[in-house]
Amino acid sequence: MADSKAKTTKKNDRKNDKKIAWLKYNAKQLKEVEALSQEYIDFISDCKTERECVDEIVAQAKKLGYKDLATVKKVKAGDKLYAVNKGKALALFVVGTKPLEAGMKILGAHIDSPRLDIKQNPLYEDTDLALMETHYYGGIKKYQWVATPMAIHGVICKKDGTNVKVVIGEDPKDPVVGISDLLIHLAQDQMDKKASKVIEGEDLNVLVGSIPLKDEEKEAVKKNVLKLIADRYKVDEDDFMSAELEVVPAGRARSYGLDASMVMGYGQDDRICAFTSAKALFNCTAPDRTAVCILVDKEEIGSVGATGMTSVFFENMVAELMDKLGDYSELKVRRALQNSHMLSSDVNAAFDPNYPSVMEKKNCSYLGRGMAFSKFTGSRGKSGSNDANPEFIAKLRAALDKYNIYYQMAELGKVDQGGGGTIAYIMAKYNMEVIDSGVALHNMHAPWEVSSKADIYEAEKGYEAFLKEI
Ligand code: MN
Ligand code: MN
Repeated sequence: MADSKAKTTKKNDRKNDKKIAWLKYNAKQLKEVEALSQEYIDFISDCKTERECVDEIVAQAKKLGYKDLATVKKVKAGDKLYAVNKGKALALFVVGTKPLEAGMKILGAHIDSPRLDIKQNPLYEDTDLALMETHYYGGIKKYQWVATPMAIHGVICKKDGTNVKVVIGEDPKDPVVGISDLLIHLAQDQMDKKASKVIEGEDLNVLVGSIPLKDEEKEAVKKNVLKLIADRYKVDEDDFMSAELEVVPAGRARSYGLDASMVMGYGQDDRICAFTSAKALFNCTAPDRTAVCILVDKEEIGSVGATGMTSVFFENMVAELMDKLGDYSELKVRRALQNSHMLSSDVNAAFDPNYPSVMEKKNCSYLGRGMAFSKFTGSRGKSGSNDANPEFIAKLRAALDKYNIYYQMAELGKVDQGGGGTIAYIMAKYNMEVIDSGVALHNMHAPWEVSSKADIYEAEKGYEAFLKEI
């Protein structure tokens, strides 16, 4: 008797941030979880570059009545707008009834993911094989990217001003490409190397062909590959100089686990937060303060460049929007930014029973326990992190609890085990309230990352609650 009572108490006393989301769903919600996950699986299967993400989300936005901010003259409350930055970053707005000066409710995430970028002089031939040089993008364990089917996505920009979109290796009829690994039989020296040296960056060369072009003496295989590319895309070798081609894992994302409770797919960092943030904004109508979703590029290499979060693009778009609302001043733009609240989303490291030593169990995230919030990220004593204000966290807890959203407060692993950065600190410099939020993953930055379908659902609902309540 005492025992069972103790058990019940223990179960009910489970801390709010350690509840398993699967246990709260009714049959209808379970269907919603699956439907949203299938939509997400399609999104990350079709959108493997920042450009593809922007194109898809803009297409969805247009269907919902969003207009290009650059083309509208006047804006009023209730209007839905989008602004694209160089095809690789995006801001979506649902204009609120309150003046912009009152601040915005901002959902932010990044749509670039680790991958191998094809170099500007890529093609060469060695021993009758044609290969392409790559330079990896973002933090990767290089040994994970060999001996696996890869696709090439991107654009080739020609001198005549036309941009050719490239996708090779996704259609089941398409060939794939890849990087070879050394056979175990001859790997005695390789197997003694440190993991960081087993496969080195300069050796990530993609094998793309082995048939020589007839009647050619020099580099006949390379010439044959060039001919194939020219036939399919009407470009020549020099056009690689002005190309942005990304080598990514080929094939679709899919359900994972015998109970199909999870998703395995490429680029979930951070398209899982981008997808759910955009979805939540699409479900937001007539907000009091303007609701925003910003999806940026270059997070994986420090948020630099014109399309990264450190660019003034977003600030400029806020100024444009205010101008078109007929209420522009420099001071009001500053107030609009300062009075804003933001969920800066990025993925978190879910506890993995295979690697328990890097986690502190009370303060890490878990698959299936809902959205993950980090008061801070960073490394070596929080260095480089935004440290969210507890007053804002308390407001958020109230908003999430009101809608029974499950969430967890989580640090990325143990103290001094490593760490990571996000875009949160960049937006915090406007003096707005920002917290790191997101979804927990296994296999982060590996070619195939793993998420929980329950967390995708909780995140989307959580973002909606934020847009309603903050
Ligand atoms: Mn990320
Ligand atoms: Mn990352």
